[in-house]
Amino acid sequence: MMLVCFLACVKSGRAYCPIDVNVPLSRTEAIIREVEPEIILTTEPLEIDSDRIKELQEINEIISTTDGKADSSNYVTAEDVFYIIFTSGSTGTPKGVQITRDCLDNFIKWALCLGSGTAQEKVYTFMNQAPFSFDLSVMDLYLCLYTGGTLFALGKNVQVDMKLLYEALRRSGINKWISTPSFADVCLADPIFSGELLPDLTDFLFCGEILTNKTVSRLKKRFPGANVVNTYGPTESTCAITEINVTDEINEKYSPLPVGKPKDGTWIRISDENGNAVVDGEKGEIVIIGDSVSIGYWNNAEKNKKSFGRTTVNGVEYRFYRTGDEGYIIDGMLHYCGRIDNQVKLHGYRIELEDIESNLLKIHGIIQAVVLPKYRDGKVSSLVAGVVLSEATEDEKTAAESIKSKLKMTLPEYMIPKKIKFLSNIPRTNNGKIDRKAVGGVL
Ligand code: AMP
Repeated sequence: MMLVCFLACVKSGRAYCPIDVNVPLSRTEAIIREVEPEIILTTEPLEIDSDRIKELQEINEIISTTDGKADSSNYVTAEDVFYIIFTSGSTGTPKGVQITRDCLDNFIKWALCLGSGTAQEKVYTFMNQAPFSFDLSVMDLYLCLYTGGTLFALGKNVQVDMKLLYEALRRSGINKWISTPSFADVCLADPIFSGELLPDLTDFLFCGEILTNKTVSRLKKRFPGANVVNTYGPTESTCAITEINVTDEINEKYSPLPVGKPKDGTWIRISDENGNAVVDGEKGEIVIIGDSVSIGYWNNAEKNKKSFGRTTVNGVEYRFYRTGDEGYIIDGMLHYCGRIDNQVKLHGYRIELEDIESNLLKIHGIIQAVVLPKYRDGKVSSLVAGVVLSEATEDEKTAAESIKSKLKMTLPEYMIPKKIKFLSNIPRTNNGKIDRKAVGGVL
């Protein structure tokens, strides 16, 4: 139904903005306040006072009374916004990334050739793992729609129950696997996850977080015939913009693995602190220039000024985006080295630590808050929060549970820190910022 609604929006000339049903109501309300949508389509009852809501029954009635044909002159145009996807924002309010139809078209044209390619005569079955409110799903959804393929969506309930998951995969017939590496790691936990379970699988297409050599080795062993492709890109550049087919040779040669070469129509510049390009091999901020870079965040001039701009390549003007990622280029190949700010990826989810901190500070009794990532195998494995209370508590266990449940009212489940620790003070640097290094020693 979500896909039907997406297409209904764009075919009637409107951008869509997907929100997961699991997002807390207050965050959903904040997004709705931001985008002021003309229509709110919802598959589950929504406790919001608005005359713009169309619930499932009404949507079904509309569908049953139309022939499904839309006047193509109403479709969103190439320069129009096609979708707005919200990502975690450092101020505690999510940021809406606006992607135009042009951006999406330019992404699809390139993505069709990933791995063994999809622009061939055969139509394929694509696996959907990421929620439709995350931009990784753009890869499976639009490659599938564009080629007339089949989308095999793994529901949330299936993804958390290994028995159901393997059963679903066995009958899926998927050819193209699209997920975060973390999800493949979950599946690899059982030897049943192999070429026998998925005999038609030709390509693993990964994006969204670090792909480790270990994951590649395990996949190559279990699926000897399949390509393993690492792609990289933020939501702001439409899903992914670099790629590398990780062969056995590449997996042996590089550790960590590179994220590959940019697509046609995209250029990578590595910048120093002053915004000047550095030479090959030197580390700096990854700046993406090209034809799939977003036109900017919705209604956020300040952030747009900081992160987006325009530049000329070969006499043609393109948008650019400062990613906040650190990297370097060798042999035309991009290597990712982490972040220059406090954004992290946890199980593929993009999280600004300050987003959690500012929501912790909204809780009565918390006067200081800090959130830090904990790492395992070079990847973030969990989050831990340190809080200072206005009045010390004797029962830290109950207080921690209470903080977590209050936090769940404003933040999605994946952003809730696993541990809450109680501190008497949070160390600060000379200019008053949280001294994350020093805090690391205490948490
Ligand atoms: P999102 O907007 O949710 O897709 O998150 C984008 C961020 O995920 C990027 O800015 C990177 O920090 C990280 N990322 C995406 N792809 C990769 C990759 N292949 N390897 C390492 N990090 C990645």
